[in-house]
Amino acid sequence: MARRRQLYEGKAKILFEGPEPGTLVQYFKDDATAGNGAKHGIITGKGVLNNRISEYIMLRLQEIGIPTHFIRRINMREQLIREVEIIPLEIVVRNIAAGSIAKRLGIPEGTRLPRAIVEYYYKNDALGDPMVAEEHITAFGWACPHDMDDMVAMSLRVNDFLTGLFAGVGISLVDFKLEFGRVWEGEEMRIILADEISPDNCRLWDAKTNEKLDKDRFRRDMGQVEEAYQEVARRLGILPEAGNGDHKGSDTMQ
Ligand code: 5GP
Repeated sequence: MARRRQLYEGKAKILFEGPEPGTLVQYFKDDATAGNGAKHGIITGKGVLNNRISEYIMLRLQEIGIPTHFIRRINMREQLIREVEIIPLEIVVRNIAAGSIAKRLGIPEGTRLPRAIVEYYYKNDALGDPMVAEEHITAFGWACPHDMDDMVAMSLRVNDFLTGLFAGVGISLVDFKLEFGRVWEGEEMRIILADEISPDNCRLWDAKTNEKLDKDRFRRDMGQVEEAYQEVARRLGILPEAGNGDHKGSDTMQ
């Protein structure tokens, strides 16, 4: 059986050509990297969990009117998505100091920020995803001021909604990273949410104990990484069923 054509392989996902023009298949790997690829490992089952968690979150966001690239889940590791032209930015929203902001500004990890803070990073592995200002983004033409307004408004809505969603299952949403892409509908260009939303790109802490339930467990060699991702899925009520379809670049298309 012919394999679908692979278009792109990233650190945690692979994109294959989709069944129709304008669609892609997003395959979730178990690979984990940190420190811009300096550290690599396999977290067994991570791809299956992230596929389900991201599906669940994207569907909930669509319900409140956030446009996303998600179409439907195909199997344990794959989802059908809309093809977008990725905007080369990582938009980070922070509610509690952790990670790079804690280090950069000397704020103790765990400090609640006075309000949600939005930051921009230029998506470029060779440069280590440097932080940039809106000035760089508009001057270099990665996005125009109107695009920025759209992305910031959507990011803050995502933050409000997900903060509540996770609070409902006893999890604090500390921070997260979003990526957006452009789609054309006739002459009209629209910006929609792309990539994934999962414990790979969110910091999620147990609301009572502050136990980390996200990729920091891998980044900081804390162990029990898969268990933490499972716990997030369990609390959201979406632990994946056992079954097939769990193989790389599967030939089956439903
Ligand atoms: P920080 O800037 O503190 O390292 O990351 C802030 C948030 O964005 C964290 O939730 C982190 O998981 C996410 N994030 C930032 N950059 C990346 C990235 O390149 N890949 C992934 N998966 N997440 C990122």
